[in-house]
Amino acid sequence: MSQLPEHIAPLRSAVRDFADRELRPRVDAMEEAGAIDRDLINQMGQLGYFGAPFEERWGGSAMGEIGFTIIQEELARAHASTAVLVGASSGLAARMVAVAGTDEQKERFLAPMARGEGIGAFCLTEPGAGSDVPAMTTTALADGDDFLLNGQKAFISNGRLAQYFVTFAKTDPEQRGRGISLFVLDAGTPGLEVVRLEDKLGIRASDTAQIAYDDVRVGRDRLVGTENNGLPLALDTLNQSRVGIASMSLGMAKEALKLGWDYAHERELFGGTLAGQQVTQHALADMQIAVYTAESIIYRTAMMSDAGENIEAESSVCKAYATEAAERVVDRALQMHGGVGYIRGSAIERIYRDHRVQRIYEGANEVQRNNIYRVMRRMYG
Ligand SMILES: Cc1cc2nc3c(=O)[nH]c(=O)nc-3n(C[C@H](O)[C@H](O)[C@H](O)COP(=O)(O)OP(=O)(O)OC[C@H]3O[C@@H](n4cnc5c(N)ncnc54)[C@H](O)[C@@H]3O)c2cc1C
Repeated sequence: MSQLPEHIAPLRSAVRDFADRELRPRVDAMEEAGAIDRDLINQMGQLGYFGAPFEERWGGSAMGEIGFTIIQEELARAHASTAVLVGASSGLAARMVAVAGTDEQKERFLAPMARGEGIGAFCLTEPGAGSDVPAMTTTALADGDDFLLNGQKAFISNGRLAQYFVTFAKTDPEQRGRGISLFVLDAGTPGLEVVRLEDKLGIRASDTAQIAYDDVRVGRDRLVGTENNGLPLALDTLNQSRVGIASMSLGMAKEALKLGWDYAHERELFGGTLAGQQVTQHALADMQIAVYTAESIIYRTAMMSDAGENIEAESSVCKAYATEAAERVVDRALQMHGGVGYIRGSAIERIYRDHRVQRIYEGANEVQRNNIYRVMRRMYG
């Protein structure tokens, strides 16, 4: 894209080089282990990948939303689970503290997350409250100067790895959306426990945990933002982070297109190559149309965000469009591979599994369409 900021081209080539050198050779082992390599996390911390959206005074590398978007895209291109780790920690957990924390909280919690020294988990979803966030039942009731947290969170990315659990709980359980507050808890706080790790279809190297809160006592210094104002903060954060999900889909689609292209030009059949068939050429052209369109809206939206513009609808458009377009690209790339693409161990087989969750988390695509429609009502009356 010709009008991208100057720092983007060198950033992309540096992340791609890092992914080729350090990430790709470890993918199979990390998938097998169901975990991201600690040395890789440390390297990404030193390179400023976790800190991209944040100011330097809070440990960030100040690359803007557009920089973070490119990092997420290039990491996901090589390995989706690694991008999920960075996205959940920086795009969600650390971002909450950046948006609503005091300077003291930013120093204590944001700076280590921005440097990749402490991983964050964003704990919003519950067994009975996913899309319907206000239905949450985890409570944080005032007890003297403290709060006592009780409840459960489900499907929490980085749950096993996290140092900081950015947790939403009801401080006024009589209310729905207006009674939710936000807290940062340290791993190891008595009563905070990872009770289950999920076995998943894809992103198998990203840990997804169920977390229990059993009389977890925290001081008021752990409350981020004002009491009962957690829901608007969560929704604002998700508006930003959805661009990151879209950029992960873009990275996976680009990788799938490259794999499909290479295979179609190598595979010999009917006296020529698969790519010699016009139907395959058209499929590849459709894949390029999807990639170019997704790339255009994602980069534009990230730059709008960096310019301080409202991206409430645009981020949902990016998430819904890019995840659905990428799913079609990945599916077509797998189809081109024939039986080989279905066999465990082929790159396209992993991408196909890894991509499926993209339409579900950080707001299912149906919820994105609700957001878009809500903004349309303001636009069209
Ligand atoms: C691998 C993984 C990682 C995750 N990581 C995190 C995390 O780090 N932190 C966190 O808090 N959560 C996380 N989640 C949870 C995720 O955000 C939720 O699964 C998602 O928001 C959907 O909620 P739900 O699963 O309860 O589905 P439900 O809310 O029960 O919805 C089920 C389905 O119903 C449809 N639907 C929902 N609402 C509507 C509607 N209004 N109109 C029409 N159809 C609708 C959608 O198709 C949706 O998929 C993760 C989930 C997964 C699978």
